[in-house]
Amino acid sequence: MRRIGVLGGMSWESTAEYYRLLNEITAKRLGGLHSADLLLRSVDFADIEEMQVAGEWERAGERLAEEAATLSDAGAEVIVLATNTMHKVAGALEETYGERFLHLGDTTAAAVNASGVRRVGLLGTGFTMSQPFYADRLRGHGLEVTVPTEADQETVHRIIYEELCLGTFLDSSRQAYLEVIDRLVAAGCEGVVLGCTEIELLLPIETYAGVPLFPTTRLHCEAAIEAALSD
Ligand code: GLU
Repeated sequence: MRRIGVLGGMSWESTAEYYRLLNEITAKRLGGLHSADLLLRSVDFADIEEMQVAGEWERAGERLAEEAATLSDAGAEVIVLATNTMHKVAGALEETYGERFLHLGDTTAAAVNASGVRRVGLLGTGFTMSQPFYADRLRGHGLEVTVPTEADQETVHRIIYEELCLGTFLDSSRQAYLEVIDRLVAAGCEGVVLGCTEIELLLPIETYAGVPLFPTTRLHCEAAIEAALSD
C-alpha cells in the first residue's frame, strides 16, 4: 500500500473523519488488522481562516504548498487536501505532484458521473458556492451545477464556520440544510454535492428528497485508498 499524506486541520472535525474513513476503508479492503499507511499534517485553521477572510489566497496557497512538501518529503505518495474550499489554491499542488494529488473536485465528479446524475446542486462554504473554482471543476467533467440562492448560501456558510467546524451539530441546522436541498431539488437538481468536508457530519444520509447526496469526504477517502492500493 502506498503512503497517503493528508493535509488537514481545515477543520480538524472533518480531518478526524478522514482519519477514521481511510482506516475503515483500508480494513474493509484488506481485512484483518490492516489499517492505512498515512501521514497527517494538521494546520491551525484559525491562521487559514484569517487568510480566507482577508482574501490572502496567494499566501494561503504558498502555505499549503509548503505543508504538502513536508508530507511528500516524509514519503507520502498520494496527497489529499482535506477541504473543498482550499482547492481554490490547489493549482500549485497539482503542478508539483501531478497524479499523486487527488483533487476533491475530480473525485467528487467521478462519483456523480458514475451515478448517472448530470445536474447537481452544490453546497459548501460561501467561497465554494459563489466563486467558479469548484463548480467549474465539476463542469469540466460534464456536470451542470446549480448553487443555492444568496440567502441560502449565507445560511449554509454561517453554519459551517460557526457550528460544524467547532463540532456543533444542531437539529435546527440540519433542518435548515434539508430545506436548502428541497429548494435545489425543486429547481431541477438530480443530486446534491455536500461540497464541504464537514457537511456529511451533519447529514450522514445517502439520499434526501428522492435524490442522492454526494459526501465529498467519504468519496475523497475512497479514491485515496483506491490510488494507494493500485499497481
Ligand atoms: N472544510 C471545509 C470545506 O471543505 C471548509 C473549511 C475551509 O474553509 O477550509 O470547504
